[in-house]
Amino acid sequence: MEKKVLSGMNLAEIQQMTVELGLPKFTAKQIVDWLYRKQIYSIDEMTNLSKEARRKLSEHYVLGRASYLKKVESADGTEKYLFPTAKGTVETVYIPTADRATLCISSQVGCKMGCKFCMTGKQGFEGQLTAAEIINQIYSIPHFEHLTNIVMMGQGEPFDNTEQVLRVCELMTASYGLAWSPKRITVSTVGLVPGLKRFLVESECNLAISLHFPLPELRAEWMPAEKAYPIQRLIDQLKEYDFCRNLRPGEARAGNHQRRLSFEYILFKNINDGEKHAKALIRMLKELDCRVNLIPYHTIPGAALQGVDEAKMKAFRDYLTHHGLFATLRASRGQDIEAACGLLNTAHQQKNNQQPS
Ligand code: SAH
Ligand code: SF4
Repeated sequence: MEKKVLSGMNLAEIQQMTVELGLPKFTAKQIVDWLYRKQIYSIDEMTNLSKEARRKLSEHYVLGRASYLKKVESADGTEKYLFPTAKGTVETVYIPTADRATLCISSQVGCKMGCKFCMTGKQGFEGQLTAAEIINQIYSIPHFEHLTNIVMMGQGEPFDNTEQVLRVCELMTASYGLAWSPKRITVSTVGLVPGLKRFLVESECNLAISLHFPLPELRAEWMPAEKAYPIQRLIDQLKEYDFCRNLRPGEARAGNHQRRLSFEYILFKNINDGEKHAKALIRMLKELDCRVNLIPYHTIPGAALQGVDEAKMKAFRDYLTHHGLFATLRASRGQDIEAACGLLNTAHQQKNNQQPS
């Protein structure tokens, strides 16, 4: 019989499991603590559980943690980690700055969405990650204790793996789990509506939407997902949510949760960097309480695209800001180790990394 995986289970499931295994009730809390508060790699390390409890657990379950296979360091301090999963290897990027330590995690091996400017898109889809494999990327880097922010902006489209992604958001924010504030977690999507709607209701984490092209035909040309989920329709739906208070229409919830909504916009030379694009973007977003994050394009082979210089990025930002749309520039990090936005791709590593190095 194949063993089940402990990591990724929520408190209710672990309580149920302890009943089934005939373990004392209090072990559920102990197991959850080991799972979501500590960096351990085997059930045997759960030292406050009796030997018998550990034996019973090990008979039916594995912990579901894996240490990284490889680490590469950038000249700017960014670090890229390669993790093994059942569907192939994935990459995770650690980005330290003066006041933050951000971890960019992956939600799938490859991606089905086929955006033409993205290396992960070029890799194609290789498989879904389980909640255990997603959350393992967080625990299994040496900086775990010092992380301040998590962004789901690595390989994959989170809302093409919604169930597992929502599970991770729950484990990250639940009081029995990592107990992080949802304000420290951001999920980035190309705009897959069904998953996104669930996310808005079931989680309070921040949302980033990869917009990039404010004209529908242009967006469809570079981002095939536009055809199934037009961005304008999504934005119209988002206007019905009050992001300041995180409420659905007609729903009252205690507290004053503040969920941040941002739109990502890569500037491509002569494609989406003109005044007409800025105006279209402002028109699209003006009624939303949101910000625009301008991202430098990281060149990928085979795409007839170019980025713009910093002066142009600043001018675009200033134009948006002067017209009432708050915009910021995202610095490029880890480009020398192919860790920057859109460069993650593990297709070429599958063969070479079956053995830990
Ligand atoms: N699939 C999700 C999250 C992963 S991609 C999404 O698309 O939002 C994370 C971010 O990197 C997205 O905003 C994506 O558009 C951006 N990106 C992709 N390729 C890029 C490239 N070549 N240069 C800069 N950013 C890129
Ligand atoms: Fe997938 Fe995001 Fe890359 Fe598009 S940009 S191919 S959605 S990872």
